[in-house]
Amino acid sequence: MSVRRRAAELRDGLLDLVFAPVCAGCGTPVPTTEEERLVCRTCWSRARPVPAPRCGRCWAPLLPGREVGPRCAACEEVPAGIRVVRSAFLLEATTRALVHALKYRGWSAVAGPLARRMAELPFPEDVEEEARVCVPVPTSAARMRERGYNQAALLAAEFAARTGRASDPGLLVRGRSTDTQTALHPAERRANVAGAFAVPAGRADSIRGEHLLLVDDVWTTGATAVACARALLDAGARVVSVATFARVHPELDR
Ligand SMILES: [Zn+2]
Ligand SMILES: [Zn+2]
Repeated sequence: MSVRRRAAELRDGLLDLVFAPVCAGCGTPVPTTEEERLVCRTCWSRARPVPAPRCGRCWAPLLPGREVGPRCAACEEVPAGIRVVRSAFLLEATTRALVHALKYRGWSAVAGPLARRMAELPFPEDVEEEARVCVPVPTSAARMRERGYNQAALLAAEFAARTGRASDPGLLVRGRSTDTQTALHPAERRANVAGAFAVPAGRADSIRGEHLLLVDDVWTTGATAVACARALLDAGARVVSVATFARVHPELDR
């Protein structure tokens, strides 16, 4: 073994001792040989992409053998102004842990590796061509103070940088503070977020006639994204597409 290589191994070993980089998903040390130091390979291998066949519009998994069309039954919940929804993975144990780390445990840097997977999402050609500006789902002022950042804005910035887009977190604001959505049923979620978002006065000119790409960490029932899209469409946007890191597995028997 060459002196240089031994020195490199020694250095990597010392770096591991000093920084002890652990995976944001599972907490085990990430070897220095891995390219991504924030999320280990095992966690990425456990993250399951939304399984095909999928709806071409809302990305809901369909029953095997079901014909893949431009719309599905779940699409009824998605307003016409939303062109497509795309999510990189199903929200399961590992992806939930990653989102949790980003959202609640202060791992803001995890936005990079997560957005890297979102950047690989297949969007229809017209969306690739038209949707050049990302808009993150805004967070409330209270949560911003508490966390110090909006995880959707971090994802949008990283996703935009990786796909040659711009990110404009100032295009949408959260008006009134909404209670956390976690414990609510779908209908309650919709009522909870309806009217919670708005395009600030003076920004409507920037979105008139545009196809915007809304970015969030998770698509649960779609209530939040739909409320955001409605605000953008009401303010003059022509159409909205949605990109999220993960999505809850919807009922397959629709
Ligand atoms: Zn891991
Ligand atoms: Zn659909």
